[in-house]
Amino acid sequence: MTSDSLFYSNQVLTSLKNTYEQIKGKSLDIEFIEGAGEHYIFFDRENRRYLIRTDPHDSKVPAVVAVEHEVSHYLHDSPLKTLRKVLAQIRNESGIQAIIEQQDPKRKEKLEKFADNLIKNSFNVLEDHRIENLTGKLQRGSRDNFQKTCKKLGKMPEIIQGLLNKDPVNGLLCHRFHRQDIAKIHGMEDLKKYFLCDTLLRKQGLLYFCRLIKDVEYEEINI
Ligand SMILES: [Zn+2]
Repeated sequence: MTSDSLFYSNQVLTSLKNTYEQIKGKSLDIEFIEGAGEHYIFFDRENRRYLIRTDPHDSKVPAVVAVEHEVSHYLHDSPLKTLRKVLAQIRNESGIQAIIEQQDPKRKEKLEKFADNLIKNSFNVLEDHRIENLTGKLQRGSRDNFQKTCKKLGKMPEIIQGLLNKDPVNGLLCHRFHRQDIAKIHGMEDLKKYFLCDTLLRKQGLLYFCRLIKDVEYEEINI
């Protein structure tokens, strides 16, 4: 547990969530799952609302940073529903889904994970960078907290161990966690320019432009 987690009680974190819910005028809920060690947001189709699940006592990420991160997905319109549709579409059209269906249950589960993970995880790293930049632009304190947390994660032995595994997603993650030295191992050190460029453009106000073209982009993806 971090000192931040002590300061930010579940009640305070819920108020933070409520504030963003009011700003956005859409439904957002939050569930605290002690000891889960993970944080995510998804669209709960049954109840027609976005739902954040978070562990307020995760030793890796301060509670407020985790909640602000997930709220940022909601605030800056991460295309969560669209991504799910796109993945299903790719699976069906490529014929991978038909092959998966013929497998025994154990193999099926493995193949399903493999079919989606590269696309989903790569997208997540870029999307996480985008939403943190945008919230960071609105709130200076959040920007500092996000950056501090990313740097801290990049120094943790268990995270470094994962980053060393040969996988393009880890090449992207190295930049997110400020470990360009490890990105070299993946042959992806040049991507630093992309991450820097993204940050600079949003600082210069291009984020407003991005919001304008958002609807058009989503329409195209949905075809
Ligand atoms: Zn995220």
